[in-house]
Amino acid sequence: MTIEDNVHILTGPEPYRPFLNTNLGQLYYDLLSKSKVHYDAMVDAQTGKTLSYKDLFEYTLILADYLQELGYGKDSIMSISSENNLQFFIPIISCLYTGSIMAPLNHNYTPEELSHCINISKPKVLFCSEKVLNKFQKLKGELGFIKTIIVIDSTKECYGVISLMNMLKERRVNMSKWRLFKPIEDRPEDLKSFIMCSSGTTGMPKGVLQSHLNIVVRLNHCRDPRYSRVDKGLRVLAILPFFHGFGLLTNLGAMFNQIQIIMMNKFNEKNFLETIQNYKVNLLWLAPPLAVFLAKSPLVKNYDLSNVLELLCGAAPLGKNIQEELKKRLKIDTIAQAYGLTEATLAVTLLERNQYNKQGSSGKVVPLMKCKVRDPDTGRSLSANKVGELCFKGPMVMPGYYENLEATKATFTSDGWLRTGDLGYYDDEGFFYIVDRLKELIKYKGFQVAPAELEAVLLKHPKIRDCGVVGLPDELSGELPLAFVVKRQGVELSEKEVVEFVAKSVSSSKHLRGGVIFINEIPKNPSGKILRRELKKLFNKCKNKL
Ligand code: AMP
Repeated sequence: MTIEDNVHILTGPEPYRPFLNTNLGQLYYDLLSKSKVHYDAMVDAQTGKTLSYKDLFEYTLILADYLQELGYGKDSIMSISSENNLQFFIPIISCLYTGSIMAPLNHNYTPEELSHCINISKPKVLFCSEKVLNKFQKLKGELGFIKTIIVIDSTKECYGVISLMNMLKERRVNMSKWRLFKPIEDRPEDLKSFIMCSSGTTGMPKGVLQSHLNIVVRLNHCRDPRYSRVDKGLRVLAILPFFHGFGLLTNLGAMFNQIQIIMMNKFNEKNFLETIQNYKVNLLWLAPPLAVFLAKSPLVKNYDLSNVLELLCGAAPLGKNIQEELKKRLKIDTIAQAYGLTEATLAVTLLERNQYNKQGSSGKVVPLMKCKVRDPDTGRSLSANKVGELCFKGPMVMPGYYENLEATKATFTSDGWLRTGDLGYYDDEGFFYIVDRLKELIKYKGFQVAPAELEAVLLKHPKIRDCGVVGLPDELSGELPLAFVVKRQGVELSEKEVVEFVAKSVSSSKHLRGGVIFINEIPKNPSGKILRRELKKLFNKCKNKL
């Protein structure tokens, strides 16, 4: 039995500007309608193709009008699954205008993974790229709830599939109709925006429901110059996947500030550096593996990266030494680290631009949010320099997991604080340091890997009696999924067989790159819960024997 107390609470500073409190549909409608018409919102770094604000405004209106005509509106659920491309934000913004809810899906997922995630939100309309169209055509037949598939980056049409570009072109001529479209007028707290995938503190991936208000608060932070330069016309590199909260929200923020998005859809060392150089990129928002690459790769010295002014890293921890190396290499002061999670609309602690002497810290609590560090055993709030679970309250916290009351209840304390499952502390000045994870989650290159999902896959193997999966620390990738496996009696089973078996069912970021260790019994508590800390200790013992 825990007794919650709220003695030690840290509160974010006052917002920098008066709080913008309009729903996202109206916000983007106003912004795009007033933008300089021929200014490019986004550039595809590989092809050089661009998307102007004028086109973005018209396309989003035409699509919203079309969706409304098909009968979709407030609370209709749609999904998008695509690599980064110039079209990605058209359905996103149209959904915001109409009050529909968008559920982005990782396009690299296998059909099994997609089937699990798409079954959470059950979208009626699915937007996808040509590359993943086949997967979704099959799923449409199997699942039954998808009514329409719209392919966003191709003009090819086939049975039951609409081409977004063809549709936009055909309907653009009928300007007198779509020009009349107006975004929904409800208050931001009464509208839902996204259902994002996250496994939370335990179990399989779930759907994080986000309100318009959640995102509006995030956008208020995006235009706060204490955290990042916000000047119109700056250029940001967009290599983070748009389907993940980090990529989605930072780029929605960039558009909001009219910062030009230089878009990449896959990482390649040479292209990455060339793009930063040739497009004179000013802002870099990256997950730690690419920050490590910039800090360490000998290739970097061959490129002129002198236009880079700021680097923001999030989604996983960034080592202090890497920050120091980056500062020297890029000759910039502002290397900031953000800490956050999908359940709290990402960055809930941020380092201010003038606080760069606090390397290693993830910064302070952001405006409008409150944090307490909670002793997981007693429920008491902890004072400075004591490690506990970070818990948050405020308008960035999700309303809950979509149609999953049980998981929602388990994620909040009895007095309504979001439990992050992350362990950390704040120093005497209120700067946060994340030290460990209480929750099951593994993060490979910033991507979520849910141990429970891999365990379910492993248990399907006829030679495996029991298993437990943990993250193995790794400098470049953060963590590597590692499986402890108990074989059935009398069978032969190799590590290679297990690794290959898993690789057949799950996408690349979930492969067992940490390897497999065979043991006789998985340590569990009396109620059958896997004792993952014991497994990690076991790994250290095995390592020391080598
Ligand atoms: P996601 O919901 O996919 O963004 O993952 C959120 C999780 O990533 C958090 O709960 C943390 O475990 C981890 N995380 C994000 N940012 C940081 C950071 N700056 N330092 C340490 N862990 C982080």
